[in-house]
Amino acid sequence: MTRRIAVVGAGMAAARFAERFQALGGDAEVTLYGAEPRAPYNRALLADVLTGRYAADDLTLLSGDAQLRTGCEVTALDTVAHTLRLADGAHVPYDDLVLATGAEPVLPGGADTADTLRPADGGHAPYDEPAPATGVGPAAGPALPPGGAHMVRTAADFERLAAAAARARRAVVIGGGVLGVSVARALASRGLPVTIVHQASHLVERELDGPAGELLRGVLAGLGVEVRTGSTVRAVHGDGRVELSGGHVLDADLVVAACGVTPRTALARAAGLPVRTGVLVDDRLSCAPGVYAIGDCAEHRDRTHGTAGAAWEQADVLAARLSGAAPDAAYAGSRPYARLSAGPLEYAAFGDPAADEGGDEGGLDVLRIADATRGSYKKLVLRGDRIAGAVLLGDLSTVGALARAYERDEIVPADPFHLLTSPTSQGAS
Ligand SMILES: Cc1cc2nc3c(=O)[nH]c(=O)nc-3n(C[C@H](O)[C@H](O)[C@H](O)COP(=O)(O)OP(=O)(O)OC[C@H]3O[C@@H](n4cnc5c(N)ncnc54)[C@H](O)[C@@H]3O)c2cc1C
Repeated sequence: MTRRIAVVGAGMAAARFAERFQALGGDAEVTLYGAEPRAPYNRALLADVLTGRYAADDLTLLSGDAQLRTGCEVTALDTVAHTLRLADGAHVPYDDLVLATGAEPVLPGGADTADTLRPADGGHAPYDEPAPATGVGPAAGPALPPGGAHMVRTAADFERLAAAAARARRAVVIGGGVLGVSVARALASRGLPVTIVHQASHLVERELDGPAGELLRGVLAGLGVEVRTGSTVRAVHGDGRVELSGGHVLDADLVVAACGVTPRTALARAAGLPVRTGVLVDDRLSCAPGVYAIGDCAEHRDRTHGTAGAAWEQADVLAARLSGAAPDAAYAGSRPYARLSAGPLEYAAFGDPAADEGGDEGGLDVLRIADATRGSYKKLVLRGDRIAGAVLLGDLSTVGALARAYERDEIVPADPFHLLTSPTSQGAS
């Protein structure tokens, strides 16, 4: 009998796994079970559904010859009987099981539940509410006040947000990480005045150092986005106004919550699989015999990633193993790398570009080039002769060379400034 591989989730990791499995000549019947109603798509491009550059249907990803069961939520796993239970009550047998359930948005810390952050029309239930009886998946959703907060994870979320933006006067985006920044920029590109409320002292603090965050703030200001750092939201009122913890109230009729994500693990946890922040996997990406986890839901060597790059690297390793093309392939982790390309907002960040800012400067060398007139900022942090972190903002002309040196952990050239400068770059500091 043909071997059956069941993949729970039909997102970016699942699609890549299925596509690579077929390309590598894998001999099994692969089925993707996806709760969303559409085929796998490139989630990382969703902000451009708001700018109008893409329709959601333009973002569809290939998934080899896998069977696609869309709109099909898996509600329970039985790893002893090797069966899945589906939302319609059906039980489906499998031989190997791949969890690719992704992540779900978190609400801002400290938000109260009454008259506060709730998802906007037709959105998900708030993720901090008790899980539904099945322990997984979106619930029906409460009665919603008109001024609820939009979540931004799925194509449907972005389609709803685009429709709401067309009627809105003024928007607030809660969260100034990469997701909040790209959503704010996309809303502003539609002519909507936007305010970002961000808890940390500078934007995108996980990927950028302070000066880069400040430069980004300047670029956003030029696009019509105001940024309030060091601020938290106390409540979103029914009329859309947003109350900050200091008491200040922002006028708005469209609110977006972009406060980070958490691995979607309820299904694995309920099945007794090992879960900490994510589903715990080893270098084979396995969490139990014949059970694997990849993508945003997986935790490997104490790390969850939350990036498409890591999800794809994991999918590639698992496809190589399960197809038999490289049965001993192992996943050794992904090096942190982030890239934003959103119109005039452009940066690439490698490793920890703020490694020198945490009081741990010992053994680090820092090279910096800032050019305020061109709106560019570049920084290279070296530990010995290797790259510990780097950022290019506003001028990515050397991104290829830098990415290669970083990904291969190469010894940097004798004059590492070359990794930051191109013939057109000027103004070393
Ligand atoms: C707006 C946006 C912009 C982003 N931009 C970038 C970027 O620029 N660069 C980058 O590297 N990353 C980016 N990311 C993150 C990137 O999209 C994720 O890292 C990637 O999608 C992870 O893939 P995944 O398959 O693990 O999860 P997902 O793509 O989220 O797929 C998981 C799927 O599983 C489904 N599912 C969950 N539970 C069940 C169940 N029980 N039954 C059936 N189906 C289930 C979900 O509905 C979902 O469709 C962005 C994310 C968002 C939301």
